[in-house]
Amino acid sequence: MLDIQKIRADFPILSEKVNGKPLVYFDNGATSQKPQIVIDAIATYYQEINANIHRGVHTLSQLATDAYEISRVKIQHHINAKFSHEVLFTSGTTFGINLVTNGFASILKPGDEVVVSSLEHHSNIVPWQMLCEKTGATLKVIPMNEEGELIMEAFDALLSEKTKVVTVNHISNALGIINPIKYIIEKAHAVGAAVLIDGAQAVPHLKPDVQDLDCDFYAFSGHKMCGPTGTGILYGKEEWLNKLPPYQGGGEMIKEVTFEKTTYADLPHKFEAGTPNIAGGIVLGTAVDYLNNIGFDNIQKQEEALLAHATKRLLEIEGLRIYGTGKNKASVVSFNIDGIHPYDIGSIIDKLGIAVRTGHHCAQPIMNFFCIPGTIRASFSFYNTIEEIDAMVEAVKKAKTMLS
Ligand SMILES: *Cc1c(COP(=O)(O)O)cnc(C)c1O
Repeated sequence: MLDIQKIRADFPILSEKVNGKPLVYFDNGATSQKPQIVIDAIATYYQEINANIHRGVHTLSQLATDAYEISRVKIQHHINAKFSHEVLFTSGTTFGINLVTNGFASILKPGDEVVVSSLEHHSNIVPWQMLCEKTGATLKVIPMNEEGELIMEAFDALLSEKTKVVTVNHISNALGIINPIKYIIEKAHAVGAAVLIDGAQAVPHLKPDVQDLDCDFYAFSGHKMCGPTGTGILYGKEEWLNKLPPYQGGGEMIKEVTFEKTTYADLPHKFEAGTPNIAGGIVLGTAVDYLNNIGFDNIQKQEEALLAHATKRLLEIEGLRIYGTGKNKASVVSFNIDGIHPYDIGSIIDKLGIAVRTGHHCAQPIMNFFCIPGTIRASFSFYNTIEEIDAMVEAVKKAKTMLS
C-alpha cells in the first residue's frame, strides 16, 4: 500500500488551514492539487530555459523545444498513441473537443447524426449542438437508468448509417460512473462513425490505452491530473487529424504563406497555431511522471478504499441518497439529503475546512433526470485519507442537524 503521509508531504497545500481548520480537499473532480515537483518545474523552466520554441537557432530555443517535444513523447507513451504527432497540446479538454467539432463542420451534412450521452459535461454537449446547428445534423442522446448507467440497448438502437460521430465521457464527472467505452467504440465503428472520448475525469485515475480502445479522439485536461491549468491533450488518429481542417490560423501552423495561398504544416503543428503554453506543456510531462512513479495500480487501490468507506459511512446518515449507484465507479460520491439544498450543506461544511463541490457540476441534464437542482459531490484523490472521509461525514451530520 501507499505511504499516504509521505505522498501528502509532496503537496504543500494539503497542510494549509481553511477557515481555521485543516483543509480536507474533496474537490478533485474540479481540479487536482499539485505536488511540489510540478510547482518547482514551472519555476525551473522560466529560470533556466525560457525561450520560444520551434523558431530560434539559439541554444535556449533549442533547449525549450527539446523539453516540449520530449514531453509530447512522454505523453504519447503514457496513452500508448502510435505516433507522437497524434498528440496535440491544447489548453484543456474543452479546447480539444472544440477543435474536433470545428473540424467536423466541413464533414457533416444535413440528415447526419451525432450521438452524445445523457451523462456528458456541458463541454461535451454544447460544441456538438453548435456543430449540429451549423451543419443541419441531428443530435441523438443515449439515455441512462436510475443507477446512472448508460442504457446500451438504447444506444444500439440509435446507431445507423446516418451516425457520423459518437461521443461519450470515459468517466462521468457528476456521478463517477465509468462508461463501457470499449463496447461503445466498437459498435460505433461498426456503422462507420468516428468516436471522441472525453477523458477529463479518467486520466487522474487510470492510464488510457488509445490503441487498445481504438478511439478516434481522446481529450483530457492537465489540471485534473496534477498538472498546471491551461494544459491539455487531444489525441487524434493520424488519418482523422489529416482529414480535419486546422482549427486556428497563425504562426507555426503553416508550411508556406503567400497572399494567394497558404499550405499547412504537418502534424502536429497544423493544429498548434501561435506560441503555446510552453512551460505548461513541459510540466504536464512532469505531472505524468509523478503519477506513474506512484503507479496507477496503487492509485486505484487507494481510491477504491476511499470510495468504499465514503459510500458506507455516508449511507449511515438517514435521508441521504447517493446518485450514481452503478457498479463501475471511480472515486466520486454525489449525494443529497432529503429536504435540504446541497448548497446549504456545502457552505456549512466549508466552514469546517471541507471542500466539496455543490451544484449541477456542468451536467444539468443529469440533474434534470433526477429532478434535483444539484448534488454535493465529494471526489477523492490518492492523497486523501480515510480520516478525512470520517471528518466529512461528521461535518455533514452536523450540517444536517443545523438545517433540519
Ligand atoms: C472538467 C471536465 C471537462 C472540461 O475540462 P476543462 O479543463 O474545463 O476544459 C470536460 N469533461 C469532463 C467530464 C470534465 O470533468
